[in-house]
Amino acid sequence: MSYIVALTGGIGSGKSTVAESFAQHGITIVDADIIARQVVAPGEQALEELVKKFGKSIILGDGSLNRPALRERIFSHPLEKEWVNKLLHPIIHARTQQLIALADTPYVLWVVPLLLENGLQTQADRVLVVDVEPHIQLSRTMLRDGVDRQQAENIIAAQVSREKRLACADDVIDNSGDPHMIEPRVAQLHRLYLKLAAGENRQDIAEHD
Ligand code: ADP
Repeated sequence: MSYIVALTGGIGSGKSTVAESFAQHGITIVDADIIARQVVAPGEQALEELVKKFGKSIILGDGSLNRPALRERIFSHPLEKEWVNKLLHPIIHARTQQLIALADTPYVLWVVPLLLENGLQTQADRVLVVDVEPHIQLSRTMLRDGVDRQQAENIIAAQVSREKRLACADDVIDNSGDPHMIEPRVAQLHRLYLKLAAGENRQDIAEHD
C-alpha cells in the first residue's frame, strides 16, 4: 500500500497547478474530482440508480448526468441529498482505494478539494495544504472561472475556512507569489515524502531536506 499524501486547498488556491508539478516527478496522482465524475458516467450503475430515483430530467441529451439539474433537485431537500451521498460515497471510496492500490510509486498524491469538508483527512498519511492570500484566491478564481466577485465569494464562504484548513496541515505550499516558486517547494516536499514513504522517522530527517 502506497503512502498517501492528501493535497487540499480552497477553490483557486492552485491545487491543479501543484499536482502537475508533482506529476513531473513521476508520482501517481489520484484526483477525487475525476473519480466523482467517472462513477456517474454513462453506463455506470450509479447513474442508473440516480435516474430511477429522480427521473430522466437529470440526464442530458448525450446521456450524461446533468449536474446542475441534480444539484438543484437536492439543494433544498436534505434527505434526498443524503440519499445521493449514501449512494455515491461508498463507490467513490472503493474506486479511490482501487486506484491507490494500483499505484506503483513510493507515494500517491491524492487531490481532494473537500478533504476537510468531508472529514477524509484520517484516510491520508499526510496532509499538504496549498495556501493563498484571500484576495489573490478571489481574483484567480474570478479570472479562471469567469465568475463575478459575489459568486466567487459565495463559493469560498461555503468551503472550510483558511484557518481550519491550515490547522490540519502537515505541510503548506504558499502559492501567493510567482508560479516559479512552486517547483522548488514541490521538489523539497517530494524528497521529504520519499523519505517518509520509506519509513524514515520525521525527526531523523534534517530540516534542509
Ligand atoms: P485549484 O485547482 O486549487 O482550483 P488552479 O491550480 O486551477 O487552482 O489555479 C487557479 C488559477 O490560478 C488557474 O488559472 C492557475 O493557472 C492560476 N495560478 C495558479 N498558481 C498561480 C500563481 N502562483 N500565480 C498566478 N496564477 C496562478
